[in-house]
Amino acid sequence: MTLKTLMPDKIPLLDLTYDQLKRLLTSWGEPAYRADQIWRWLYRSLATDFQEMTNLPKGLRERLAEATCLRTMKPLEKQVSADGLTRKVLFALRDDHTIESVLMHYERRHTVCISTQVGCALGCVFCATGQSGLVRNLTAGEIVEQVLYFARSLKSEDEQITNVVFMGMGEPLANYEATWQAIETLTHDDGFNLGARRITVSTVGLVPGIRRLAGEGKQIGLAVSLHAPTDELRDELIPINRRYPLTQLMAACRHYVERTGRRISFEYALIQGVNDSPEQARQLAHLADGLLCRANWHVNLIPLNPVTESPYQPSSQDRILSFQAELNRSKVSNTLRVERGVDIRAGCGQLRSQRM
Ligand code: SAH
Ligand code: SF4
Repeated sequence: MTLKTLMPDKIPLLDLTYDQLKRLLTSWGEPAYRADQIWRWLYRSLATDFQEMTNLPKGLRERLAEATCLRTMKPLEKQVSADGLTRKVLFALRDDHTIESVLMHYERRHTVCISTQVGCALGCVFCATGQSGLVRNLTAGEIVEQVLYFARSLKSEDEQITNVVFMGMGEPLANYEATWQAIETLTHDDGFNLGARRITVSTVGLVPGIRRLAGEGKQIGLAVSLHAPTDELRDELIPINRRYPLTQLMAACRHYVERTGRRISFEYALIQGVNDSPEQARQLAHLADGLLCRANWHVNLIPLNPVTESPYQPSSQDRILSFQAELNRSKVSNTLRVERGVDIRAGCGQLRSQRM
């Protein structure tokens, strides 16, 4: 039985903004403060059943249960990496499409990596998600629900989510409205109350979306998937670069830094013989010159994660280290990322919308 047949036509509560929830309750003749109570049950107490909402009258709980639903996705498969630090869950959505989300433990951090779309339309050549095209956008509720799922499971271990990264399946800025609504819900101080600085949105470089995000007035972290230091190579690896080439992208990054005061992370997946030469490291070091002061950007080096049926291979350790040495010589702040969960295909770019 699918989730849809379990709850036909019910309003998914997580899809509602705070104001929409208030309007729903007042349209039912309830006082507005009921919306505050329900909002807290959803995002503070992480309730999974209306019966838990003990400060609501029984009649209201029954009406909520009849007309609305708390959950719209169910976990189909759970995998834990060999080191126990990464958990990946495959969820079935109401229409039976599937998405993956990942929880990573790192020292005292519990970071959840969430998806914003089923598939992705942008077709970057090295990315598993991009290979099947876009199926559909997720709703704001479906984005938030991924976070709540892991928050509930951490709560049972007396822990909580410390960071949320929009680095799962899909391009968050291509599903801007839902992504932004999800961010507003997660940062709402009467509810989940996650600090904006603990959220990172990763984008392939959709310039209008970066500018729009800059204008929202929250200090959301921005990661830009760069992967190539020249338009010539980036056009090949990331087709959308033809629409938003590097000069436009760098100008949008500068705008983002100026408006938010946050530095930008540039993601750079090292691909053997493609983008990993010392000369390319020097080009990368000079890419943002004149636009961004070096203190305002940081490069995350990621050895490419293997993707089935892809001709691209991760760079060898030697090439990675000489690329990094070149960045260091140019005084570009950088980190060589230790990828997590690659054994369960939970690494960057390895998420898919199908059972394997
Ligand atoms: N669409 C967004 C966010 C999802 S992808 C974006 O592209 O930024 C999350 C990150 O994984 C991006 O930095 C993406 O470039 C990177 N990525 C994709 N395929 C990868 C692979 N095979 N190995 C390493 N990183 C990869
Ligand atoms: Fe889409 Fe990001 Fe994958 Fe590119 S890297 S195909 S933008 S999910």
